[in-house]
Amino acid sequence: QTSAVDVVVLGAGAAGLMCAIAAGARGRRVLVLDHANKVGKKILMSGGGRCNFTNTGTTPANYLGANPHFCKSALARYTPTDFIAMVERHGTAYHEKELGQLFCDESSKQIVRMLLEEADAVGAQVRTHCTVESVEQPGERHFRLRTSHGTLECGALVVATGGLSIPSMGASGFGYQLARQFGHDLRATRAGLVPLTLSGTHLERVQDLSGLSLEVEISCNGASFRNAMLVTHRGLSGPAVLQISSYWQPGDDLRVDLLPGRDAGDWLTARQRERADAELRTVLGEVLPRRFAQRLCEVWLPSRPMKQYTPAQLRELADTLACWPVVPSGTEGYRTAEVTLGGVDTDGLSSTTMMSRRVPGLYFIGEVVDVTGWLGGYNFQWAWASGHAAGSAV
Ligand code: FAD
Repeated sequence: QTSAVDVVVLGAGAAGLMCAIAAGARGRRVLVLDHANKVGKKILMSGGGRCNFTNTGTTPANYLGANPHFCKSALARYTPTDFIAMVERHGTAYHEKELGQLFCDESSKQIVRMLLEEADAVGAQVRTHCTVESVEQPGERHFRLRTSHGTLECGALVVATGGLSIPSMGASGFGYQLARQFGHDLRATRAGLVPLTLSGTHLERVQDLSGLSLEVEISCNGASFRNAMLVTHRGLSGPAVLQISSYWQPGDDLRVDLLPGRDAGDWLTARQRERADAELRTVLGEVLPRRFAQRLCEVWLPSRPMKQYTPAQLRELADTLACWPVVPSGTEGYRTAEVTLGGVDTDGLSSTTMMSRRVPGLYFIGEVVDVTGWLGGYNFQWAWASGHAAGSAV
């Protein structure tokens, strides 16, 4: 049995549902298909169950991708304010956590419910447990999908299948496979917003400090983030580390400023004057977790009474504190990554409509595209904005 609709959206996640809402509002007959047993699983698990659904400070500079300009148009045309208006219309209470990050007061279920209600209100249908076996293109703007629910024909096909992160939540490489089938280039994918691992002596030196957290500024490949770093039993995590992981490539060192916002040299000189008889580890314990200060002095910094350091030695200590070297051995991978970097090359897509430049009627939106946001609500904002851009065009 063959049924026909105007638009099929593959993937009932953040981007796919937003696209269906925008397209349905324009009178398009829309069908959203998902192979999972329920929609929006990543929304449900996001933000510790409270969904960090946007960031009020979103700018194109908060995104990585081969073409940094690609995200501009969509982000400008569907802003955090637009999404907040929808959230408020549904009476969902929210709060700002830090740096413009907005979370639901109660539960991320409210965001999924809101999207489903909006989709329903414009007549968009959503079908779960549906596997797509093949996609063919019998003609221009004509797609035929063989699915576990029968054959479907449509004039526009929107690929919103997300990235590879958290395979247990329904992630698949299907979007990339379709992109390749239709002649699109892919940018190499890798895990982003992911804990970094250490090995050998690098791990042994900090492993027993697992659970300890401190504020740092981490830099790598021109990017820099000031936030908390958490020592884990396998390496490093915490927001600062997750952020920098998206910029880190195997073999790169991280530079960690352990006294962010302070000039380490000036601070040490002042402490030498004020606490001449105190040991370095005690002085460092004023601003760093005590066990961490102790370990620094066991491994990296010789601890003596402050008065015994020459100015040159103080400078060396300051250099190590401002630029503590960390050599990750890898990342925890897609199993725990919040996002997938890379994906469908944006050179092959229109930045205003997300439509393929090669195949009219074929669209790619959300995380499957080579646009990846920082931690802090930026990835959902890209999903909403790119979904809205495609939904306004299909
Ligand atoms: P998804 O939301 O992943 O949706 C893709 C959908 O496609 C899924 O429903 C999937 O089942 C379906 N699908 C996949 N393959 C197929 C197939 N072959 N056939 C049919 N359907 C298929 N971002 C934020 O901005 N804020 C946060 O607080 C946040 N927290 C996160 C927490 C975790 C643990 C994780 C993993 C991610 C988090 N993210 C967060 C990132 C955010 O969830 C994603 O960037 C966003 O969901 C991407 O939207 P999407 O619609 O492109 O993909």
